[in-house]
Amino acid sequence: MTAAPLPLLLDLHPDDFPLPGFRRRQLLEWVYQHGVGSYEQMHTLPAELRAELAAGWRLNPFDDIETFRSDDGSVKYLFTLPDGRQMEAVYMPYLDRKTICVSTMVGCPARCAFCATGAMGFGRNLTPGEIVGQILAVAGGEGIEPREIRNLVFMGMGEAMLNYDNTMQAARILLHPQALGMSKRRVTLSTVGIAKGIRRLAEEDDLGIKLAISLHAPDEETRQQIIPTGGANSIDEIMQAARDYQAKTGRRITMEYTMLRGINDHLWQAELLAERLEGLVSHVNLIPMNPWPGSNFVSSTEEQIQAFYDLLEERGVDVSVRRSRGKDAGAACGQLALKRPGAAQGHAGA
Ligand code: SF4
Repeated sequence: MTAAPLPLLLDLHPDDFPLPGFRRRQLLEWVYQHGVGSYEQMHTLPAELRAELAAGWRLNPFDDIETFRSDDGSVKYLFTLPDGRQMEAVYMPYLDRKTICVSTMVGCPARCAFCATGAMGFGRNLTPGEIVGQILAVAGGEGIEPREIRNLVFMGMGEAMLNYDNTMQAARILLHPQALGMSKRRVTLSTVGIAKGIRRLAEEDDLGIKLAISLHAPDEETRQQIIPTGGANSIDEIMQAARDYQAKTGRRITMEYTMLRGINDHLWQAELLAERLEGLVSHVNLIPMNPWPGSNFVSSTEEQIQAFYDLLEERGVDVSVRRSRGKDAGAACGQLALKRPGAAQGHAGA
C-alpha cells in the first residue's frame, strides 16, 4: 500500500509554520523569499532541524511540472499533483510587471460553454498550498525570486468562490509580509458571479483584494445559454451583490465579457450592459474568445468588437479590449484544459 503523502508545509499560514521565533522566520525566508525547492538548501538551519522538517512536512506540492512557452513570452505550467490529477498556471512576464494566473481547482464545475476547462468537468478543490505553490514553482522555473511576481489573478482553472476557504487562506499567505508580501491592489479574484461569495468577500476586511465578475451577457437568456450554472444567481442578484460589495469596500469592480460571435455581441446587448452598470464604478474588459478544439463558439469579428466597444464608451462605460497572450501555448483565457499545444489546449479565465 502506498503511504499517504506528508502534510504540505505550504498549507500552513505563515504564523503557524512549525518552528519557534527566529527559526520560523528563517524557514519562511527560505520558502517564500528564496523559493528553495528542498530543505537541504536551507543551510542557515541546523542539519537536525532540516531532517526533522523533511520527516514531517512535504515542501513541494507537485510530483511533476511541464512548461509550454508561447512566442509572445507567456508560459503555461502544467502541474501533476500527488494524486495524479493535473492543473495549470500561466506566467505572463509583461515588460513592466510579472503576472501569474493561478488555478483554484482541478477542472471546474461552472461549465461555461465557451471554456475548455468547463468542458473537463470538476476534479477537486486545490488546497491553499497547492494554490500558493504555483507561484513558487513558476518562480523556480523562470529563475527569479518569488517576490518578483507582483501581480496575481485567481483566474485559472476553477471557480474560486466555490473553493472559498482555501482561496482565502491562499490570499492571506500571498499578502503576508513574511510570505510573498504581495500588494492587495495587485491581487484579483475572478468569479463567474456567485452572489454569496461576493458578499463574503466584502466582509474580508483584512484582505482588500480586487474583484472581477465574469458577466459575459447582460440578459438572462444569453447568460444561461453560455453559463449553464448561471441560473443559480440571476443577473439582478449578481449586480445587487456587486453594488453591496462596492458600497462596503469602495473598490472598483472589473467586468469580464468574452465576445462570442452572434451570441452576446449584439448592440442591444451593449446598450443593456451599459444600463446594468449605471451607478457602479466598474471597468469592462472585452475579451475576444480564444479558440479550442471542440468549442461550438467563435470570437466576434474585430468590427463587431469595435462597434460594441464604441457603444459602451459612448454610454460612459470605462471599457477596454483585452488581448489574450499565450494562445499558441494553449495558455490564453478559456483555453486551459491540460492538453499540449497543438492538440486541444487548456486554461480558463473565470
Ligand atoms: S470560465 Fe472560469 S468559471 Fe467558467 S468553466 Fe471556465 S474556469 Fe470555470
